[in-house]
Amino acid sequence: MIPPFEARIANPTLRRTAERLEVLQVNVGRRCNLACGHCHMESGPNRTELMTRKTMEHVLRVLRSWKFKTLDITGGAPEMTPNFQWLVEEGIKSGAHVMVRSNLVILNEPGYEHLPEFFAEHGVEVVASLPYYTERDCDRQRGSGTFRTVIAMLQKLNALGYGRDERLPLDLVYNPGGAFLPPNQAELEREYKTRLSADFDVIFNRLFAITNTPVGRFGDFLRRTGNFDRYRQRLHDAFNPAALEGMMCRFQLSAAWDGGLYDCDFNQAAKLPVKGPANIRDLGDVPEGREIAFGEHCYACTAGAGSSCGGATA
Ligand code: SF4
Ligand code: SF4
Repeated sequence: MIPPFEARIANPTLRRTAERLEVLQVNVGRRCNLACGHCHMESGPNRTELMTRKTMEHVLRVLRSWKFKTLDITGGAPEMTPNFQWLVEEGIKSGAHVMVRSNLVILNEPGYEHLPEFFAEHGVEVVASLPYYTERDCDRQRGSGTFRTVIAMLQKLNALGYGRDERLPLDLVYNPGGAFLPPNQAELEREYKTRLSADFDVIFNRLFAITNTPVGRFGDFLRRTGNFDRYRQRLHDAFNPAALEGMMCRFQLSAAWDGGLYDCDFNQAAKLPVKGPANIRDLGDVPEGREIAFGEHCYACTAGAGSSCGGATA
């Protein structure tokens, strides 16, 4: 029997967000050129949920009035949402640090090839998913041919200054290829750096090791393979109280393609809305810190070294 996640949080302060939120994460759409087996948002080429310009205007209003430091744009493949470039430009004009979570494969598709230059010109931080540094493991998770394309795009970003120029950070995301926890992030980062540099002359700044959350397509995969209960138990057994302080929901607000508000992207996937105004269009003044909506999937954020969109937290 797995106890409710809240019951593991002894300090009531950690059940609420920090007074000052730092990141506004915006999931601008479910459409994606890929359909990865681990995708918690169940994104793919046939999804039609895309953020409208009107909702983006509300995002920008809240970004400015709440003085968020970072606008973190994700999807789907966020590049496929209409007005994506406008959102990036307006976010930067607002003084925020803008980061885009890209699968990089999209940057090689017709109509998107100009985006590496666009990112570099605007000083956008690129966070790129690369499940492993070998072709076989990467293609198994993301689809045949993806590894080679991602490497070519990393080389292109490097040529534009990414990974070298401090104005142009390039981070990679690792996630396990099955029902297990990520290895030590620092060691894995060293391995990635050594291999990618030696094999492909690719450099990057940081590696984020992210634990797979048992929701969405990854949850379905676990059920299909008879691993769901074992994985839930594994996350629970690996509970690390030291990871509570750094849970990303304590410092961010997450908006979905339709403006729906959540504590994080995983709560979006689990359909667990924020305790407060349900939609970004209804948000007014900055609140003093809100109670976080937790679910059983939250154990993924506190297992082992902890996990967040920025990697390990403990
Ligand atoms: S994991 Fe990322 S790249 Fe893969 S389908 Fe989901 S949104 Fe697309
Ligand atoms: S899943 Fe979301 S709400 Fe739950 S602990 Fe992780 S960041 Fe917080």
